[in-house]
Amino acid sequence: MIEPKPKKPVRHLLGLSGGKDSSALAIYLRDKVPEMEYFFADTGAELPETLEFVDVLEDYLGKPIKRLNTGRSFEHYLKLNGNFLPTAKSRWCTSELKIKPFEEYVGSDEAITYVAIRADESHRQGYLSSKTNISARYPFIEDEKNEEDIREILDSSGIGMPKYYEWRSRSGCYFCFFQRKVEWVNLSERYPILFEQARKYEEFHRDQGRTHTWSQGERLDDLVARSGEIKANAEQQEIADAKKPKKRLLESLTQSDRPDDGCLMCIL
Ligand code: SF4
Repeated sequence: MIEPKPKKPVRHLLGLSGGKDSSALAIYLRDKVPEMEYFFADTGAELPETLEFVDVLEDYLGKPIKRLNTGRSFEHYLKLNGNFLPTAKSRWCTSELKIKPFEEYVGSDEAITYVAIRADESHRQGYLSSKTNISARYPFIEDEKNEEDIREILDSSGIGMPKYYEWRSRSGCYFCFFQRKVEWVNLSERYPILFEQARKYEEFHRDQGRTHTWSQGERLDDLVARSGEIKANAEQQEIADAKKPKKRLLESLTQSDRPDDGCLMCIL
């Protein structure tokens, strides 16, 4: 008689974006879910601070963080998409560089993915796989953890906030079209080479008289030419946000122009 194959144990997975929330969740669950597998879908266009932060986190967790990479560059997918830049409405980058590598990594295994949506943002849904073998859990919602708690988890671990929060409000690709105009200015000052690369991507189709821009309604050339004005506006906005009750700068930065839920995989 043929023995039935033993059933594979359910896999427990936590995807890190290099953002504060998924990092705090990994720290929070490190001892609660010892069988956790950590992964990071590296788009190949991550900020240097993000990569450094993931390395630090890996040391803290004491387990490898599996780097998922399609082995193909952003340019490859850009070409496949007719050299049309991804946009909020046509977000092929998330699908190709984040979701597909994750689903391939899981395969047909039964898996639970732990999503770092907080209790104070429980209206958001995050990435939900259409694959029936993957289900989601939301520990911060279950345990009523909010923004303050996340900071506390990061601070008390000694890891603290990712460094890019000094100049940018979220993780993700250096050219992410969700970044604010002032963040583009900051990118141009901190990482001129990356900014220049992003600027070059806007050049596709220009010879046909069409302009595709990362930042809505404005080419990066034009944007950076008025960097003084953009910075002054951002400062005024910070002052106005700081006066609003119960809303700190970080919160205002991370919540005021958040993308819709499809992209939480890049930023949590
Ligand atoms: S971070 Fe932005 S550009 Fe990068 S994959 Fe996510 S949505 Fe696309």
